[in-house]
Amino acid sequence: MNVLVINAGSSSLKYQLLNPESGVLLAKGLCERIGIDGKFTYKADGKATKDAVDVSMPTHAEAIQAVMDALTDPADGVIGSMKEIDAVGHRVVHGGEAFNKSVLITDEVLKAIEDCIPLAPLHNPANLTGIRACQKVMPGVPMVAVFDTAFHQTMPARAYMYALPYEYYENDKVRRYGFHGTSHKYVAGRAAAMLGKKPEELKLISCHLGNGSSVTAVDGGKSVDTSMGFTPLAGVPMGTRSGDLDAGILQYLMNKYSLSIDEMLNILNKKSGVQGVSGVSSDFRDLTDAFEKGNARAGLAVDMFNYGVKKLIGAYAAAMGGVDAVIFTAGVGENSAAQRMAIASGLEFMGVKMDADANKVRGKEAVISAADSRVKVLLIPTNEELMIAMDTASIVK
Ligand code: AMP
Repeated sequence: MNVLVINAGSSSLKYQLLNPESGVLLAKGLCERIGIDGKFTYKADGKATKDAVDVSMPTHAEAIQAVMDALTDPADGVIGSMKEIDAVGHRVVHGGEAFNKSVLITDEVLKAIEDCIPLAPLHNPANLTGIRACQKVMPGVPMVAVFDTAFHQTMPARAYMYALPYEYYENDKVRRYGFHGTSHKYVAGRAAAMLGKKPEELKLISCHLGNGSSVTAVDGGKSVDTSMGFTPLAGVPMGTRSGDLDAGILQYLMNKYSLSIDEMLNILNKKSGVQGVSGVSSDFRDLTDAFEKGNARAGLAVDMFNYGVKKLIGAYAAAMGGVDAVIFTAGVGENSAAQRMAIASGLEFMGVKMDADANKVRGKEAVISAADSRVKVLLIPTNEELMIAMDTASIVK
């Protein structure tokens, strides 16, 4: 079975053609500058690569057509015709409370995704555009929507409610939704496989640490708490996002510097996090380099990030009444041995004991805790596209 996975943005579209049973990636690439001029990138093993070549893309439909043309190209394609695509899986950012799992796309589903636009005004419209473009170019091919928020819909009310007047939840849907759900679900599934246990038997803490970061408590295969909130601004400090902060700071700074709420939110989303604290970069590699050259603020930024993740591990172990394994994934989690060590050390009191040699690894599945560590620590590269393809296959079948 072949599944085309689509992640559509407002002017870009990422694609991968995958076999969800074997996990084999047949081809992948990117359409950029849709609605402007159009740049097309295509990569498939053993075939000629196209790198940002000009292809006219007035709308997402031409972008999808370019993907089809490349995939079925007699010389560099990977399939004979569009008929060899059995289904399409679409990443959709926000499913609100309407979707607690992936679903086959119907007219009612499209309407419900539209209803979630106020919750994700930048992302859901772009995701819908991608779906509609695919329906136009690939009529009759079953399509599935996979939501970033769906995995977290199992959180209990005590975890998802904010202590605001209740009507803001009832009337305005203000609550914690959480994000990165597809990633947390994928690595939790892989952790169970690595440990030879059923997901129902495990208490896991999944640390998705990248440019955006979130930590999730997964009890018995279900998300029971997560650090991102109503929006992805909440939780640990991130590349450029502040993470959690005292809302009173907004009033203080907005009054003092005559900032509008949009200017304030722009600061919190784009100029804060490790970028804001360090004044150097949002990229953790740059921060490590700068710290080694004596930049104390770069060191402080990384230290604040590591400390934020460590605190959440402790909090979620308490929330679940224990933890069997801690998972590190995404850019920082998969690559930075030093940050994994900084986060996990000092947690010996709760049964976490790292193995410094085993931790000298990047980008592949590994147990990085000591053999006698009561809590296992796992490095698991995330694969959101494969998770989307697997969900899509299970629904289409
Ligand atoms: P992601 O959002 O998952 O793509 O992760 C991006 C982040 O991963 C960036 O901040 C990178 O600096 C970070 N990253 C990638 N490789 C390394 C590395 N070797 N050490 C530290 N951070 C890394």
